[in-house]
Formats: sequence, C-alpha cells, structure tokens
Amino acid sequence: MRLSLLGLALLAGLADLVAAPSPAVPEARREQRLHFTAQDREVGRYQYVPVTVPAGTTRLTIAYAYDKAGGANVVDLGLFEPGPLDLGTGPAGVDVTLTAETSAVADPAPVPTLAPRPTGPLRPGPAWFSGGVHLHTRHSDGEFSTEEVCRRAREAGHDFVVITDHNNTTHQLDPVDVPGLLRLVGEEVTTPGGHASVLGIGGWRDQVDFRLIAGDERIRDLVRAANERGALFAINHPRADCLGCSWEHNVSAGVAAMEISAFAPAERAAAMALWDSLLQRRRRIVGIGSSDWHRPDHPIGAASVRVWAAELSERAILDAIRAGRVVVMADGATPPPELLVRSGSAEARIGDSLPVARGATAIVEVTIPSGLGRGRVDLVQDGAIVDSAPIASAPIRFERTVVKDAYLRVHVHAVDGSPVAVTNPVYLEVPGARGSKR
Ligand SMILES: [Zn+2]
Ligand SMILES: [Zn+2]
Repeated sequence: MRLSLLGLALLAGLADLVAAPSPAVPEARREQRLHFTAQDREVGRYQYVPVTVPAGTTRLTIAYAYDKAGGANVVDLGLFEPGPLDLGTGPAGVDVTLTAETSAVADPAPVPTLAPRPTGPLRPGPAWFSGGVHLHTRHSDGEFSTEEVCRRAREAGHDFVVITDHNNTTHQLDPVDVPGLLRLVGEEVTTPGGHASVLGIGGWRDQVDFRLIAGDERIRDLVRAANERGALFAINHPRADCLGCSWEHNVSAGVAAMEISAFAPAERAAAMALWDSLLQRRRRIVGIGSSDWHRPDHPIGAASVRVWAAELSERAILDAIRAGRVVVMADGATPPPELLVRSGSAEARIGDSLPVARGATAIVEVTIPSGLGRGRVDLVQDGAIVDSAPIASAPIRFERTVVKDAYLRVHVHAVDGSPVAVTNPVYLEVPGARGSKR
C-alpha cells in the first residue's frame, strides 16, 4: 500500500531509450521548478510534465524534491511513454523541483527481452495449489528483486505467484528460475479511490491504465477491458485504513474477486462484511487472501490462497479462482480444509452450487487436515455463524434444514481465536425460491 493523493506524470519519449546508442548524444540535465496547488489537484489528479529525451539516449535519471509539510503534501512520481508524476497538496500548495538527466553511455545494458509464457502445465492433474496473488518487487515499492520474491514464495510453500507491482508490469522482463514455481503477471491498479489487482496480463509493455479518481464511473470500462483480455479483476484491501487504499469505486459487473484478509482485525471484519453484503445480493464475488508482501515485516504466505485447479497452469489457476474453488489461509504451506455438502444424491464442494428441495436437509462435512492442531470450526450461513465444533481428526458433520437459497462456508480458527482458514461458499439453490432472502 502507499499514500497517493495526486499524481505527477513525466512524459518522456522512452521509445528512444531502446534505440542504438549514439556517441553524438550530449549529456543533458534540465531542472524544472514547479508549483501545484489544491486547485490543481481538483482539476486533474495527474499533472503532466514533459521531459525531452534525445534520440540515442540510453539512460534517463529522474530526481525530485519537495516539502512534505508533515505529511500534508504527497507527490508520487510516475513515468509514461510518452510520459507521468503523482501529487497531494496541503493548503499552501507544494513546490516541486524536478531534474531529468539524459545521457548515452558507451556500454549500455542490453535491452531486456520478454521470456515466452509457458504453454503447457508446470504440473499436470488436479490438486490444491498454494499461491500468493498480491506481491511487490523493486519494480514498485517492494524490497526485493523479482527472482528473490519468487524464491521466498517457493520456500514458503507456494506453487504459483502473481506479482502485482503498482501500476506497471516491468517485473515480467526479469528472468526467474525457481523450480516448481509458476509465475503469473499482474498489476496492482493503484487509484486514489482504491486498489485492485488485474491477474493474468502480460506482453511487451502491457499495462492497465490507473488514472481514475475516487468513484470514477470509468472503473466499469477498466474491469470490462481486463475481462476481455482474459485477466481476472480482484479488489484489494477494500477497507484498509490508509489514504486512498479503501475501495470507493463501484463493485461493477465483472469484478471476480475481493481480498477478505487483513492484519488488523477491524479491517478484516469490515472486508468480510462487505463481502457478505455482496454475496447476499447474489454477487458471487470470490473471497481471496494475500500478504500484500513488500518486505519481511510479515511472512510472505500470510495470508495466501489454496486453489483447486485442474493443473498448475495460468489458465487453470485463473479459471479455478473465477469458479470460487478457493480457500484463504493464514500461511503458505498448510493444506486447506475440505468442505462437502450433500442433499439427497447431489453433492457440492467449495465454489459449487447445490440444488436442494425446499425443507430438505443439507449435510455438511468438513475435513480438517492433520497438523492444524486444536481450535474451532464455524459453519457460516449467509454471513452468520450457525453452528460450531472443535477441530477433530474425523470429518466434522453439521446439518441444516434448507427453506430458501443460502450460502454456506467454513471458518477455521486456532485456539487463540486467530483465523486459520476461510473457505469460499457452497451455494444452496432451492427451486422456485430465487428472490428469497439471499
Ligand atoms: Zn494496495
Ligand atoms: Zn499491494
């Protein structure tokens, strides 16, 4: 997460940066003194500052300085091709000194190339795969390289990761050699009205535009565009207590998933409440969890997901998340609980729908993998705990009489009450009961 009040954008002819170096390019340094006021921020969240990059340039160095005024001024810097800076302004406005230096070095670093995306599965066959779906590298405000983040994710037990740097996908240019780990390309679309991850994009300079203000109706177009290109749109930390982090846009059609994990219990409860309010309006938004990992101030796998997918491949993982075959877990390695709901001869697992005759009994069976220790299993129906049992080695059985559409999920808690697992729902559908409570 980061503060983001107003955006300053550098406009640079970056295409020139990858041209062949020319010894004829002189070094150039240009300093600009800019002043922005709160009114500027009202007119345009992003202020654009053109920077000239001569043909043959191989290096562009940008620096900026301003008075933070005890946190009243926040200026984020971005670079566009042609190219952005990002700003918040206190009542007195803010002065920004921006310097851009261009030069051509004799032996420039090679232009990075994009590795082809894998065509076949990394592992065949259905299984629960462990994944981190929201991780940052040095390509935004993370501490480590892409390779290092991937290596640590694998050590924590993940089978796949989605790297989601703020507003860029340049991490995909970094080669990663971590055996057994599937890397997906994502982006944390970071707007002043909340953050969302677009999972499963990629391609040379592929990126999703983030320049929306809070409550901007164009969020619809952004979500649609993500879906049209086969990517999955997930709202991040929807009730986070930091500036610009809470979701203030609509939850428009096409939003597939939402983070329900958070370190602060109040934020977690608020995210869960939002999730339940959507589920109760028949929006089958998939609950996911992430560590939003930037640095080792907390474990990389806390929180993370287990996804029941047909194989370990990008397509299968995204399809399985869309289908709701997801359990949110508090670490990267523990196997997830299994939830099986039966009524008559029909049965359903996490993410599935189950037809139930009105007045019939739904039998709920929860299997807790060994190693979870002691603790408690709560059965949650339509957002409320309706039954509870201590963790046991044998499957735990609950029964519900069903009179209308409902959704059932399971929360597993440790002895100290901390969350261990939250499953996505099984949806009970009573014929002729649509429009009833849920
Ligand atoms: Zn964020
Ligand atoms: Zn993040």
